[in-house]
Amino acid sequence: MLAVGWLWGLSILFASHLLLVAVTTIPSLQGFGPVLTKYSTTTKTAWLTIDDGPDPDTTPQILGLLEKYGARATFFLIGAKAARHPELTRMILHAGHTIGNHTQTHPRFSFWRFGPRALAREIDGFEATIASIGVAAPIWFRAPAGLKNPFLHPILAARGLQLVGWSARAFDTQIDDPKRIVERIKRSIVSGAIILFHEAHRPTVCLEALEQLLRELSAEQFRLVLPQSSQLLPRRRPVSWKTLLNANRSRRHFGCMDQYYVVLAEALRDRLAVIGDHPFRDQNPDAHLERLKQASQRIEELRTRLPPDADPMLAHYLGRMSLSKALEVVQERYLR
Ligand SMILES: [Zn+2]
Repeated sequence: MLAVGWLWGLSILFASHLLLVAVTTIPSLQGFGPVLTKYSTTTKTAWLTIDDGPDPDTTPQILGLLEKYGARATFFLIGAKAARHPELTRMILHAGHTIGNHTQTHPRFSFWRFGPRALAREIDGFEATIASIGVAAPIWFRAPAGLKNPFLHPILAARGLQLVGWSARAFDTQIDDPKRIVERIKRSIVSGAIILFHEAHRPTVCLEALEQLLRELSAEQFRLVLPQSSQLLPRRRPVSWKTLLNANRSRRHFGCMDQYYVVLAEALRDRLAVIGDHPFRDQNPDAHLERLKQASQRIEELRTRLPPDADPMLAHYLGRMSLSKALEVVQERYLR
């Protein structure tokens, strides 16, 4: 700064910080890691996500409206509220909808500046709450107000969670006119859109807006559905496990990329099988260790050659030697 003058120095400092602030505060920016903002589909459908419940003043009515219009939604719940209303959480799942993790306490003003420990506490707190009411932990996560920081993605990846953003929103917690809310949402609705909607703020406005939205979309034959995870995550050409078993004999039937994942899946499976064999039951522990070393070397070699467009979760699991998780990702994303 002294060399180039304080004004230049300050400007450079300001610009670099501005970039960091933008990635933190603009929910759809992917600078820290992937954020789902749409899904791939050829049908006239969108994914409705409803945040900040469950709430006794809105959730039951919302379920009634969704039922009436044959729509499905994902409710991004706040753990502390789910703990107060476990029956509402169960009602949501019973009605065929899904839930997502929206943190335990919804610290909307401070979440962006949380360190790894506080972030983990919010995310794990939600999972513990959900487990305590006998419900399986969801795979979707949404940050309070969509704010994120550089610590968030590794924590989500370690727990197999995907960060979900949106592509259609109406600032429905700030607008009082249901008509305007619907207009604003519909402006951004296309096939594969992710709609952000809130409950529990102003029940009357929320319910009126939702009913109008459902009525208008249904009149236009636009359906609200729960996308398959395969539609949300980019995937390689599908290959079945049966085909995989014959892969050694038929490598040339695979494209170059698919072949990479076939080899990786085989290496992972080998290594897991060696770990599964108990070394002391083996007559020859040295041979066992040798096989383990070879399988590990192969995985390490493949890890360093991961294609640039590979799922970041895969790199993460391989880096942490969470091999069964890595194998699941390969199977789910690239080989099914
Ligand atoms: Zn929220």
